[in-house]
Amino acid sequence: MKLIFASHNENKTAEIRQLLPAGIELLSLNDLNFQEEIKETSDTLEGNSALKAAYIYSIFKLPCFADDSGLEVDFLQNRPGVYSARYAGEPKNDDNNMNKLLDDLKGIQHRNAQFRTVITLMLESATYSFEGIIKGEITEQKIGGNGFGYDPIFRPIGEVKTFAQMSMKEKNSRSHRALALEKMISFLSLGKFSN
Ligand code: IMP
Repeated sequence: MKLIFASHNENKTAEIRQLLPAGIELLSLNDLNFQEEIKETSDTLEGNSALKAAYIYSIFKLPCFADDSGLEVDFLQNRPGVYSARYAGEPKNDDNNMNKLLDDLKGIQHRNAQFRTVITLMLESATYSFEGIIKGEITEQKIGGNGFGYDPIFRPIGEVKTFAQMSMKEKNSRSHRALALEKMISFLSLGKFSN
């Protein structure tokens, strides 16, 4: 089965490819030579994942899913959330985003946060939504060199390593995206849909 991932992000595509069972051929937008950047105009993760999936489905008419993720920080009333990618403004820059967040939390003891992913899956028959959450805390400084985004300053609860100190395999076994994806994969494995 061909399944389109409505994303240009090859880091994420690689992560997801590792998790998919044999028999599902994952195609990213790059694989399809689709260069257009889909505007994420919603103010919720749910809205953005739905609009990306709907747009790509309308073009390719193939099973397709999109995700949207964000880092939700307790002390900041769940910000940056849907605005995580551009928290420090344009152009999008991971280091600037982390520096801004570390500044926001300077001197703050309560550093609880969670990564949350929402996946929208569109099949010809219907649309489905899957959520994955991992709880953790924001460290006081950047630690580790792997991964992307806020990985160097996010440590899952009960772990000694930040996401950026973990291998891709370790992170994939517990990440928000992996949890949402697992739900989607279990659903697809049930095969109780017509496409
Ligand atoms: P996206 O919707 O997955 O592209 O995520 C939006 C933004 O949230 C990214 O640009 C990152 O800043 C942040 N983010 C999402 N997932 C992760 C992750 O697994 N590690 C670190 N940052 C992430």
